[in-house]
Amino acid sequence: MVDFSRSDRETDLETRTHEFIRAVIIPAERDPRQTIHGPTSELVHELRVQARKARLLAPQVAERWGGYGLSHRETATVLRASGYSLLGPVAMNCMAPDEGNMHLLDAVATEAQKKAYLAPLAAGEIRSAFLMTEPDGGAGSDPEMLTTTARAVGSDWIIDGRKWLITGAIGARFGIVMARTPQGATMFLTQMDAPGITIERVLDTLDQAIPGGHSVIRLAGLRVPASQVLGTVGAGFRYAQVRLAPARLTHCMRWWGAARRAHDIAVEYACQRRAFGKPLIEHEGVGFMLARNQVDLLQTQLLIDYTAWTLDQGSRANTESSMAKMSCAETLFQIVDRCVQVLGGLGITTDTQVARIFHAIRAFRIYDGPTEVHLWSLARRLQRQGSQAHGPLQP
Ligand SMILES: Cc1cc2nc3c(=O)[nH]c(=O)nc-3n(C[C@H](O)[C@H](O)[C@H](O)COP(=O)(O)OP(=O)(O)OC[C@H]3O[C@@H](n4cnc5c(N)ncnc54)[C@H](O)[C@@H]3O)c2cc1C
Repeated sequence: MVDFSRSDRETDLETRTHEFIRAVIIPAERDPRQTIHGPTSELVHELRVQARKARLLAPQVAERWGGYGLSHRETATVLRASGYSLLGPVAMNCMAPDEGNMHLLDAVATEAQKKAYLAPLAAGEIRSAFLMTEPDGGAGSDPEMLTTTARAVGSDWIIDGRKWLITGAIGARFGIVMARTPQGATMFLTQMDAPGITIERVLDTLDQAIPGGHSVIRLAGLRVPASQVLGTVGAGFRYAQVRLAPARLTHCMRWWGAARRAHDIAVEYACQRRAFGKPLIEHEGVGFMLARNQVDLLQTQLLIDYTAWTLDQGSRANTESSMAKMSCAETLFQIVDRCVQVLGGLGITTDTQVARIFHAIRAFRIYDGPTEVHLWSLARRLQRQGSQAHGPLQP
């Protein structure tokens, strides 16, 4: 039976996260140290000092790494609260790509790799990147199109290729590189300042909330010792799923918080702003948009909690997390879009957080699998199931 009951520590963490976001993080939203490629390292550092003081840094990781060892269900509650400000997950060190990388390292890395990479990452001292997607017709929606290669030379690997849309590469201490070897796709750990890595440029993108933005990277003769292979050679795509199933869902959690924020701003505006002799919310066109938002927020919250619960049952839950990601990306985007509409002209200005959230959430329908790819994959699954059914069609 699905269990949505809350632990005391979950409720306590939720309350403390709400307070932290309202008292410390929301006032920092007007800090000028926010560039088109995200908050500066200095601002990130200052926010993390505050989160550490509030005992809210990387709450999702195991106690061994300084967190609370939360279940996926508990993580859902806390990350939703963190997402109420776009700066919240950055401050609390539970943002992408670091949060997904922490999960992957904890699941797959050797003890030595955990000490070298996971420990400082979880402590919020360094940042990381995940290098999978490629320009020039390489890996994208279809990861099998991977063109970056790694060849064995003595006890080292030499990696060549290009990557793009790599979040947080500027300022990251290390990266996890996916490359093709004769044994299959493989993940490698590398320092980001290693000879052979060149950040060609930082892309100017719609979203501007992630530290370091998104980069184009050249890998030319990058030498990685065998000890820096992550897991087993040839198991890269399997590990990508280990990372993705929960990482997709944590995106849903954080974006749920952001959509909630936009909704709260829109409700307040619609109650105060008047048109044609009454508050906007009394006009059905507006009231119904907000009522629909309220229903959609509840439905996405339940979907997130259910999917987190399935992960807690030990299931890899790839299909569930794929469905949740697709549904949340579409629904949460619609919620924020309605909020922009309710605010009228104010909605497209940066005088409220709604426009920033609108810009930032758009990309969620593309990364970690575009909506169409999740639907296509689900349809293939249905076809397999349907094709196995025998006997006459039931009317
Ligand atoms: C903000 C952001 C951050 C990112 N961060 C990272 C990162 O840190 N590391 C990293 O490696 N990558 C990152 N990515 C890349 C992301 O994973 C890819 O953009 C995504 O996998 C889609 O690949 P693509 O952009 O090459 O699109 P394409 O593969 O070119 O696909 C384009 C479109 O075609 C459609 N499509 C594709 N296949 C199908 C299908 N089977 N059925 C129907 N329609 C289909 C979809 O609508 C899709 O949006 C990031 C992307 C964004 C936008």
